[in-house]
Amino acid sequence: MTSTGFTKHAQDGKARSGVIQTPRGEIRTPAFMPVGTAATVKAMMPESVASTGADILLGNTYHLMLRPTAERIAKLGGLHKFMNWDKPILTDSGGFQVMSLAGLRKLTERGVTFKSHIDGSKHEITPERSMEIQELLGSDIVMCFDECPALPADRDRIASSMRMSMRWAKRSREAFGDRPGHMLFGIQQGGLEEDFRKESAEALCEIGFDGYAVGGLAVGEGQQAMFSTLDFSNDMLPEDKPRYLMGVGKPDDIVGAVARGIDMMDCVLPSRSGRTGQVFTRMGVLNIKNARHMDDPRPLDENCSCPACQNYSRAYLHHVFRSQEIISSMLLTWHNLQYYQDIMAGMREAIAAGRFAQWQADFHAGREQGDIDPL
Ligand SMILES: [Zn+2]
Repeated sequence: MTSTGFTKHAQDGKARSGVIQTPRGEIRTPAFMPVGTAATVKAMMPESVASTGADILLGNTYHLMLRPTAERIAKLGGLHKFMNWDKPILTDSGGFQVMSLAGLRKLTERGVTFKSHIDGSKHEITPERSMEIQELLGSDIVMCFDECPALPADRDRIASSMRMSMRWAKRSREAFGDRPGHMLFGIQQGGLEEDFRKESAEALCEIGFDGYAVGGLAVGEGQQAMFSTLDFSNDMLPEDKPRYLMGVGKPDDIVGAVARGIDMMDCVLPSRSGRTGQVFTRMGVLNIKNARHMDDPRPLDENCSCPACQNYSRAYLHHVFRSQEIISSMLLTWHNLQYYQDIMAGMREAIAAGRFAQWQADFHAGREQGDIDPL
């Protein structure tokens, strides 16, 4: 079996580039993971997602356990075979989505019970059950089960939640056991509080994980608070393991996170925005439904290699969006995912060449050219 683990190849400032080895292939870092919630990246064929340069997808435990169920996916050969994606998959633990079911869930030391948003049926996720589900799915990178309070929250609430998450991290580690070729990531919690982040990092390092996620950010605190937390929280995590910032984000969030030492991210934004007509480009954000695109023969971005930019005008993309044609979601999602992967490739190259600061300056300068639609 191929050895599994992280190798850092270069560092420029705090920004790192490297590779995570898995038996299903290499993940080049910094990496952006498109989100395949229901065993599909919406509006994309898996081979098209791969063609944008994505090395890894994220799957959602909460959605898959309810429908079609982890047991059914396991019987059908696992999530990779089920969805026709043979590269690595990271699954979340189900925690974040269950916690956001305010009013429909009950939290105890044992775990969380909740009612399905689909049919109201009752379910339970514990750290042990989360590990079992993620194993049934065949996930390459498994996440610990944790709890994450919405911000702002008072210090007592943040501390007690973080400490329970650390007890759950230990139970997750024990339940995961020894599975060669598969990785288990711990999740640092502690809100925006430096002392709690430190306590959490120490608890996780004592248990020992294959990678470390920074959890509990991008939950309403704003970019500045997120960046200032990353400024200290990353330094508390081991140098030689991958660091994953969960649920982030907009292009400038991603660049700022990499600048602070993050190696992996995921977000629904590029795919969701593709379906709502919001287009990310080097020059800023376009809203394709804006009337100014109606007669515009230019591509979205003349330097982009995606099919939307190679073969179609803004006028056409405006038309199919306004006509609610399915190809609109397909083309705009493809473009957005291509743009995100191009950013990641650009950063990896710049870090390796020791010119990440210049790359960042060019990135921000491009966005100040101002070809932007008011949203
Ligand atoms: Zn494009």
